[in-house]
Amino acid sequence: MIECIFTLDYEIYGNGEGSLQELVYEPTEKLKKVFKKWNARFVAFIEVAELEMIEANNSDQAIDLVKKQIQEFYGEGYEIGLHLHPHWYNARYEYGKWQLDYDEYNLCSLPQDRIKKIVDRSIEYLRKLLGLAYFTPLSFRAGNWLFQPTGSLAKALVEQGIKVDSSLFKGGLQHQHKLDYRRALKNGYYWRFADDVNVPDPQGALVEFPIYTKMVPIWKLLTAKRIGLQRKGSTKSQTGKERLSRFLDFIRLRQPLKFDFCRMTINEMLYILDKEIREDQENPASFRPIIAIGHTKDLIDIKTIETLLSYLRKKGILITTFIDIYKRHKC
Ligand SMILES: [Zn+2]
Repeated sequence: MIECIFTLDYEIYGNGEGSLQELVYEPTEKLKKVFKKWNARFVAFIEVAELEMIEANNSDQAIDLVKKQIQEFYGEGYEIGLHLHPHWYNARYEYGKWQLDYDEYNLCSLPQDRIKKIVDRSIEYLRKLLGLAYFTPLSFRAGNWLFQPTGSLAKALVEQGIKVDSSLFKGGLQHQHKLDYRRALKNGYYWRFADDVNVPDPQGALVEFPIYTKMVPIWKLLTAKRIGLQRKGSTKSQTGKERLSRFLDFIRLRQPLKFDFCRMTINEMLYILDKEIREDQENPASFRPIIAIGHTKDLIDIKTIETLLSYLRKKGILITTFIDIYKRHKC
């Protein structure tokens, strides 16, 4: 059985440049319209740190629209997940520009008490925003997918009542941040874990639903659509060391291609789905959640997303949320 979960990283990613109205609010309204048409819901991974800081510094007038949109998500049955880029919390807003604190870029590598403070603070902001004193998101996604080393962050999330993570993408490798998800390539569609997100542990308190990836030869990553969006999205200039790390990441012959509903062409997505459908027909009893990812800033080609939703409907594939499958499949 195949089920599809669309996850949207709801944020201005990069160095904080750009407006909430243009990069978050308006594209999300367009996406919501399409999902409404198909009576489907997505998971909105709200990047809470930047919203709190933007609000506190009064740096973007559209913050009220964004907050209203998040409240509407909740009211209309969209899932609200927690997404965190911790380098926003010590950020300073000077002369119209954000100075982000890159010492706190990887939440996992901070001291335990700092991690706890950040996680607690982010959930507190969501509670205030929604006006729900006991709200706890079910699902989490780490900024830049960084969930290694896993232990301390997993502990802080579990303490808050979070039960699902969707940070990992199988085959992922980032030398600069010591991220290595290659070991997870041999794992199933989802698994419980404790101290290492790569390693299934049936006793673990968290369930990993990895972002769907497919290992492909590197040239397959270079479609015009992906290169265009990549260029548009990269706002931070790279240092020599960062360039070397990126080079080391890319010299592998096969690379993980994420199921990105903003960056993939329709043919790429249908190719993956058709392969899964064929495998599912051979073994329909096994549950195959497919987690797709997108970013508000990349929501340019809405027509392709609509074609994808219509294809899923035609094939009888359910579009759902973590809250729904967590309950139904007793993960
Ligand atoms: Zn993000």
